[in-house]
Amino acid sequence: MTDVLPGWRYINPTMKHDLIIVGGGVAGCAAAITARQRNLEALLIYSGGGALAKTRRIDNYPGFPQATGPELLEKLRSHARGMGTEFKSQLVRRVMPMGERFSVLADNDIYEARAVILATGTSRVKLLPGEEALVGQGVSYCATCDGMFYRGSEVIVVGAHEEAVEEANYLATLARVIYCLEKTHDTSALVENIQILAGKPQGFERRGDRIVLTTNQGEAEADGAFVLRPSVAMTQLMPEAAVENGAITVDKNLATSIPGAFAAGDILGPPLQAAKAAGEGTVAAISAASYLLKAPTW
Ligand SMILES: Cc1cc2nc3c(=O)[nH]c(=O)nc-3n(C[C@H](O)[C@H](O)[C@H](O)COP(=O)(O)OP(=O)(O)OC[C@H]3O[C@@H](n4cnc5c(N)ncnc54)[C@H](O)[C@@H]3O)c2cc1C
Repeated sequence: MTDVLPGWRYINPTMKHDLIIVGGGVAGCAAAITARQRNLEALLIYSGGGALAKTRRIDNYPGFPQATGPELLEKLRSHARGMGTEFKSQLVRRVMPMGERFSVLADNDIYEARAVILATGTSRVKLLPGEEALVGQGVSYCATCDGMFYRGSEVIVVGAHEEAVEEANYLATLARVIYCLEKTHDTSALVENIQILAGKPQGFERRGDRIVLTTNQGEAEADGAFVLRPSVAMTQLMPEAAVENGAITVDKNLATSIPGAFAAGDILGPPLQAAKAAGEGTVAAISAASYLLKAPTW
């Protein structure tokens, strides 16, 4: 990140966008195509193929009889790219509403946008008991965003993949770290002063000012906890947005409860259908374009 222009403190100008679309499936690509048609400068960030990549054959997507999921996905992405959408392959960990703009943390990069469209499909992340209630109340998903709050204190890291090791090592430069494996992975790169907590995590609870993690072999307590998984549940992505029955709440323009944030596709719940996701992506992009006409510019 560079301090390139006066007033742009930590974000490189190339990382500021009118619109960021999170998700590169049907909904995200449809949103990108329409956003470009509306002349919006759009960045699409995706991590993996989503539901389409797992779909052997789709018979009911209009105009593409008997397409395989990967074929359809490739057509959608190349259409969106051809319209001038910038693509980045990164895991978005957090979309933070910051008043008239959004900060989007993807891997360890921070992008900024005036509007966002969430199109991350269905969430298959199984949260630990007690985890959701403590999000923002001692449980965090982003070492880069929240690590500094724990300088000089103690944190628990629940790691589900090897990349969590790097994040834990970063946290160990700020705080005492206790590491617990949610899924088996190589922890040989953990720095020496990190303590490994035995057993599989079973759940979180708050005791006074402390967060307690119970495993099937004991428990540990600390001032905060970081849960670092390779995918992000919809409720973790932007916890500020209203949710009902496990799906993000939107109005008929697909606007969420956060001004400037829109959502489309399977993230909105059933029916989980590709054509519905495409239509919603289109509507969300048109709504974002209308919103941006009235929103403050950079
Ligand atoms: C086996 C199977 C068969 C199906 N058959 C049919 C069918 O016959 N007909 C039909 O209409 N539908 C079918 N579907 C459903 C259809 O595939 C989905 O409804 C459609 O793909 C939803 O599109 P989407 O863009 O909302 O989500 P997805 O296509 O799942 O795309 C989500 C995108 O978000 C990305 N993503 C998620 N989290 C993050 C993150 N944190 N950071 C960055 N990127 C992220 C993913 O990598 C992906 O690119 C089927 C689905 C499956 C699994």
